[in-house]
This record gives sequence, structure tokens and C-alpha cells, in this order.
Amino acid sequence: MARKKSPERLIYTDLDGTLLDHETYSWKAAEPALKRAESAGIPVIFCTSKTRAEIELYRKQMRNRHPFISENGGAIYIPRGYFSREPPGSKRTGKYLVIELGVPYKKLREAIKVMQGKGLKVRGFGDMPASEVRELTGLSLRQAHLARKREYNEPFVLDNPKQEPKLLNAIQMLGFQYIRGGRFYHITGNNNKGLAVKILTGIYQQDADMPMVTAGLGDSPNDFTMLSAVHVPYLVKGHNSRQSRYPAFARTCGTGPDGWNSAVLGFIGEDF
Ligand SMILES: [Mg+2]
Repeated sequence: MARKKSPERLIYTDLDGTLLDHETYSWKAAEPALKRAESAGIPVIFCTSKTRAEIELYRKQMRNRHPFISENGGAIYIPRGYFSREPPGSKRTGKYLVIELGVPYKKLREAIKVMQGKGLKVRGFGDMPASEVRELTGLSLRQAHLARKREYNEPFVLDNPKQEPKLLNAIQMLGFQYIRGGRFYHITGNNNKGLAVKILTGIYQQDADMPMVTAGLGDSPNDFTMLSAVHVPYLVKGHNSRQSRYPAFARTCGTGPDGWNSAVLGFIGEDF
């Protein structure tokens, strides 16, 4: 499916706690801005720690046909035929072209096992049945199954918070990165959301042969690289009291999808 109109603006967005309510996962409050972006031909690009399988469900429900970034910048998925040319470095997989930036999940699981062997009280999604993922996240059992289909990133809990410094050190020693999302810690390779956003924006610019103005919306530290990689960053006000100590990104007025809605309406209405 070829894109009909060359976009001049792009909107990158986190899902959990940003476009989706932290508790209910509803995006209802954001519907006016989603519709406005759609009618203005502005792609809304999901950039989340969620898996491809989870994102596909939301894309279907929201009728989103744009590329997306899964697992904290682990991969960029582009529907085949979306751009006029296949981007360099992409490979075909099913209905997508994928640009892989992360390390394979198997390697991350090995690292979790090494840390467990060192007495660190970490438990990743790979250690939990879907029922426990459901309890920790409030997702449905079906969604919890999709959340366990990891490819480039392992969310985990630390049962003993006092072990955090030792944990950080162990992850670095193993050559991986550690980030905090809204609910979980994540172990990843050297990928991040910001790098993936820069690459995908470059692909859009090359395809349309014009510069893009980008907005980014997120609520957690794992969004900071994305917010730093866009022209107009919005920190969506959230449930997390630590947010007061976050860097000086513009804060949305409302929380979650409500804040998303007003920020995106503002971005679309702005003259650049
Ligand atoms: Mg979030």
C-alpha cells in the first residue's frame, strides 16, 4: 500500500502511560487528535518497549498503517510498499521490511541467567508464565501472551531494590544496557528509541525529498532518547512521582492519553 501524500510532519509516540492510559490501556481520550493526524496525513508512529505482536494488535484496533519501532528501538518495521524504495539495511520478513538494531532475545536471556547465578533477584518475562505477566501488567491473558513474544528486549523485575547498583554494574559488565520503563527494568543491546527515530526520520526525508518536522511523546526514562531525537518533545505527565526529577522537556497539561490529545492537537495546529 503506497502512501498517497508526502508527510511534512511525523509524530513518534510511546504507548504505555502515553497514548495508552497507564492503568486501563485505553486511548479513548486521544481519539480527536488521532483522527486529526489521520485526516492531515501525518503519520503516528508507535515507538514502544512493546513487542511486534503487541503493536500489531494496537495498529489493527487504531487502523494505523504506518511503520513502527518495537522493543525500545530493537527494530524498525516498515510495511512493504510503504516507501517507494526499500531502505538500505532492511530485510524482508513477511509483510514487512525490518531494520534490526537490537541483539537477539536469546542473548539477553543468557545475560539474565548469568545475573541470577550471581544472586541478583531478577526475573524476566522469560521466567514468568503469561498469567504472572498479566498480573504485573494488568493486560489480558491474550495480550500477556503477545507481550512474551520478545525479539530484542527483556523486561524484568528486581525483587530486591537494594540490589539496583549491583544490577546496573552486572549489566554493564556483560556489555548490555539497562533502562527503566513505566513498570519494568529492561535489558537491551546498544539500541535505543532515539537511534531508531533518527534512522526512520531519515528514511521518510529521503523518500519524500523534503525535511520533516518531528514530534515525540513519552512518559518514562526509556523515552528520553526519543524526545531528544525530535524537534518538538512532549513529556506526557504520568503516574510516576519521579517525573519531577526528569530533564526539562515540555510537560503536557493532562496525563496519559488526555495529555497526548492536547499536545498533538497543538503540534498539528502549529506553524513551522
Ligand atoms: Mg511509557
